[in-house]
Amino acid sequence: MLGVFRYKDRLGDRLVLILRGYPCSWGKCTFCPFALEQSTNISRIMDDNRRIISQALEILGRESIRRVAVFNGGSFHELPYDTVEALRPIAMGRMFEVEERSEFVTLAGLEALVYYYRPEKLIVRVGFETADERIREEVLRKGMPDKEMYRLSRLRLEARERGLPVEIWTYLLFGMEGIPDESVAESLKKFRELFDGVIAVRYKKYLPHHPRPKPVPEWLAQLLEEEADLVDWGGDQWVIGQRKGEEQ
Ligand code: SF4
Repeated sequence: MLGVFRYKDRLGDRLVLILRGYPCSWGKCTFCPFALEQSTNISRIMDDNRRIISQALEILGRESIRRVAVFNGGSFHELPYDTVEALRPIAMGRMFEVEERSEFVTLAGLEALVYYYRPEKLIVRVGFETADERIREEVLRKGMPDKEMYRLSRLRLEARERGLPVEIWTYLLFGMEGIPDESVAESLKKFRELFDGVIAVRYKKYLPHHPRPKPVPEWLAQLLEEEADLVDWGGDQWVIGQRKGEEQ
């Protein structure tokens, strides 16, 4: 659901902006619902995003919120410049989170974002989803092989050696047929070694051709709650395909 969302959770008191983006340049992941909110109409993208960003600025103008995340159902680097520019006062001096596919994450790109936005910290979330390459590539069709996972793990250290206030976090997908519960537990352990943060996301089926969801055993729910930085069990922002305030 597009809009501005306020959260007070383990990541702190924060705002999440769900913006409209262009279609993801990869667009092949088997479970992905984000095409429902993407557009190829530049006026529509810019207008919707300006509206959402001005709502966020209004909130940030009257409340002290130090952490803001911006998601566009794809990669931040695929947003139009109009949106990128409008986000400057939101990112400056705050913890600023964006999402990227791994191929958009480079040292020069991180440097450019830090230079442009001057955030207190830049957190880049990347959807590796599982540390098992076979599941990632054959079941999920992510197009992000293990070598990308290790490249980004090293890159975050190189960025910090250069004094950049950058962290790289990953998503961990669970509750979907084709992803064994034991492999979720193993991925969590591996991701904790490789990245600065892990956000576990419960799978939700949106379209008929998407994989089926499955129940989450108690032991796994407890492990995720204890060891992931955040567990996303699904909230308002995941009613994908609607604007905030629209009827279902
Ligand atoms: S990379 Fe993300 S937005 Fe693109 S197809 Fe995969 S899940 Fe969807």
